[in-house]
Amino acid sequence: MYLKLKKCVNEFLGLGTLVRVVTDKPVVALTFDDGPSPDYTPTLLRILEEHGALATFFVVGEKAARYPQLIQEMVSRGHCVGNHSWDHPSFPTLSGLERRRQMKQCAEILPRQDPLLFRPPFGHQTVMSRLDARRMGYEVVTWTAMAGDWQDHSAARLLRNLEEKIRPGNIILLHDALFSTQNSAFLDRTATLQAVQELLETYSDYEFVTVPRLLRMGRPVRVPWYRQGDRAWLDSLKTEDALTGSGSDPAATAAENLAD
Ligand SMILES: [Zn+2]
Repeated sequence: MYLKLKKCVNEFLGLGTLVRVVTDKPVVALTFDDGPSPDYTPTLLRILEEHGALATFFVVGEKAARYPQLIQEMVSRGHCVGNHSWDHPSFPTLSGLERRRQMKQCAEILPRQDPLLFRPPFGHQTVMSRLDARRMGYEVVTWTAMAGDWQDHSAARLLRNLEEKIRPGNIILLHDALFSTQNSAFLDRTATLQAVQELLETYSDYEFVTVPRLLRMGRPVRVPWYRQGDRAWLDSLKTEDALTGSGSDPAATAAENLAD
């Protein structure tokens, strides 16, 4: 009863979060978070193209600003680009002002999209952060199922995780990069790329579509999606730059080399 009431209030206020679409058609939306990555996104784009598949990329603004040609490449191939914040903080830990700034800063460097799509970093969301997204005109999209590819899993394991989840109308969470992780070994996306390739081959009877197209193919299922992260776990995460040093200032690095 309480859950039903919560669902009604949620729907009345337009605070639902999209998790899937009800349809009989064999369509699935693959979504890739935390990129773009110059190391992995180009290969992923090639794999998708080879299989006639389209996807939705929830990109981190800071990286999109660093690799604008990859964003261009996604758009020109017909993929959808959604907002995944400027630098991937857990939104419930921020003030409303900071949350809106995160979404705005990312939106400013992305091509204009219709509808506007937002995926909260880590899937963390409160009523207040959901209200912020609504205020800014975003459809919030999470997922039906995830591969679990932010951990060190083999392609076979990732495929097994998704086996039962390739069903009409589902939205699948994958990562073409990791913005933050507890272990630098997990940054390697080779297993994800291999799993995507095998998935597209195995489910060749399915059409892989963008989220906006999926929305037009059935009845959207929007649910109350509220979860907060564990503070200690969030504190234990390191960003990719801290782990790989790829974010270092090239001028400073050149100066260091000269000093050697
Ligand atoms: Zn993310």
